[in-house]
Amino acid sequence: MAFSCTICGQVSTSICVSCTKDTCDDHLCILCKSCSDCCQHEVRLDERPDIRPTVRETLEQVTERVGE
Ligand SMILES: [Zn+2]
Ligand SMILES: [Zn+2]
Ligand SMILES: [Zn+2]
Repeated sequence: MAFSCTICGQVSTSICVSCTKDTCDDHLCILCKSCSDCCQHEVRLDERPDIRPTVRETLEQVTERVGE
């Protein structure tokens, strides 16, 4: 029986521990087992640029500084 990721529609293999929605590997945080909507980490920003553009810009600035 296949379930679909509630975010992208791909076949899901896990559920979010926070909201229990079906979530695919791409949208399930390996650190907290939560979907992109519930995860507090900033490892999936590329997939949700519409949600957190400000945080993404900050992250890029930090990355630049680390590279110097
Ligand atoms: Zn997905
Ligand atoms: Zn969730
Ligand atoms: Zn997380």
